[in-house]
Amino acid sequence: MAKKVQDALKDLVSLCKRRGFIFPGSEIYDGLANTWDYGPYGCELKRNIKDLWWKKFVTSRSDVLGLDSSILLNPKVWQASGHVGNFSDPLVDCKSCRERFRADHLLEEKLGEGCTMGKNFKEIAEMIVENEIECPKCKAKDFTEPRAFNLMFKTEMGAVEGAGNMVYLRPETAQGIFINFKNIMDNVRPKIPFGVGQIGKSFRNEITPGNFIFRTREFEQMEVEFFCEPGTEAEWYKYWKQFCMDWLVDDLGVTKEKLRLREHTAEELSHYSNGTSDIEYAFPFGWGELWGIASRTDYDLTQHQNESKVKQEYFDAAQNKRYIPYVVEPSLGVDRLLLVLLADAYEVETLKSEDPSKPDDTRVVLRFHPAVAPVKAAILPLVKKGKVKEEAQNIYKKLLNHFYVEYDETQSIGKRYRRQDELGTPYCITVDFDTIGEGDDVNPELKGTVTVRERDSMKQERVAIEDLELWLFKNIARS
Ligand SMILES: [Zn+2]
Repeated sequence: MAKKVQDALKDLVSLCKRRGFIFPGSEIYDGLANTWDYGPYGCELKRNIKDLWWKKFVTSRSDVLGLDSSILLNPKVWQASGHVGNFSDPLVDCKSCRERFRADHLLEEKLGEGCTMGKNFKEIAEMIVENEIECPKCKAKDFTEPRAFNLMFKTEMGAVEGAGNMVYLRPETAQGIFINFKNIMDNVRPKIPFGVGQIGKSFRNEITPGNFIFRTREFEQMEVEFFCEPGTEAEWYKYWKQFCMDWLVDDLGVTKEKLRLREHTAEELSHYSNGTSDIEYAFPFGWGELWGIASRTDYDLTQHQNESKVKQEYFDAAQNKRYIPYVVEPSLGVDRLLLVLLADAYEVETLKSEDPSKPDDTRVVLRFHPAVAPVKAAILPLVKKGKVKEEAQNIYKKLLNHFYVEYDETQSIGKRYRRQDELGTPYCITVDFDTIGEGDDVNPELKGTVTVRERDSMKQERVAIEDLELWLFKNIARS
């Protein structure tokens, strides 16, 4: 079973490279561990994900505003947020082979998720000995004592090297929102409850990244900080859990059975949180966190008020009272959602042969929701010359104004279909002699129409060329 599971991820990684979705980073220089570059189709897929999220969580809502804050922030931000003091993992070295591991991960592999929650480093060291944890690489059972390893990347700012110029690359986008709370209140004046949404890169110097793009040191986040009146946070917490889950299933078409909501236990909760859940997905390597939804109370704004001495209050005119708002935060990684959509869409399908003397065929297909798919349609002329080609190119140019579409005239129509299936292209548009109304045995009623073949059902229908744009808009928006 475990082997089959690893193969499923391997097949996906290889498809991603072969078809230009995701390449290993810095490959011509022998790579850079666990970095990945998004190729032509991967970056299109990523853009679609971000656009859909932004539309759903920001622009289509009257109660959420957008923000784009800096990656480099004053180091005091990370003092206030607790990242300087607490944002670290327990790290151990194997004394035999020198490989470095996260102690909590080693224990979780044997004892299950959350087994080190609330344990201090001394207790973790004892657990490693008691449970006879062995090095995954060399099988030795001799580790160093766990020590704290801060996950923030450091760099120098300005031309002069030396003390005082050190800055961190942000480990989350959320703090950029909190430190702009006052700016937004004073200048844009929204009424509570309201949220601020942001998409941006974050960096964490993970000790053990892995599982393809599941855990990387450089990643992109989509976060909303939703500010509400103290006492209403439980209701909003419930609301956002449902809202996020509905978006995955209804708008992006993620398989419902492969999603679950896991509520954190009391021991797992951060000291400031009064409720945290993970939406988890059944990845090829097991259940993993996709989306964290956390009720963070007034912790962050209070911390910034204490550190900066600048009031972080909201004045509610209707009730004539001042308070520091509570916050509910749905926090999602773009790359991780992209992996979910790839894993969920990937299928090797057996196509039954209609002729019993011939063997069954297979096809690799990415069953993306049309709204997510990088290529929306491919225009395929049945012959690559004359009026058929001319008409196909006209259609291609017209559709390019609104959609990312491809034109392909090489090899047989069957091979072209397979290529598009692998990219997850939902519609293939075939231009033939019937379209132009010229040639032997053409059906005059089909003049000015094309064949549209749907990826999943492989069913075909004739659509008038003049209706094509509208037809595509309608079918891409379907849910
Ligand atoms: Zn070892």
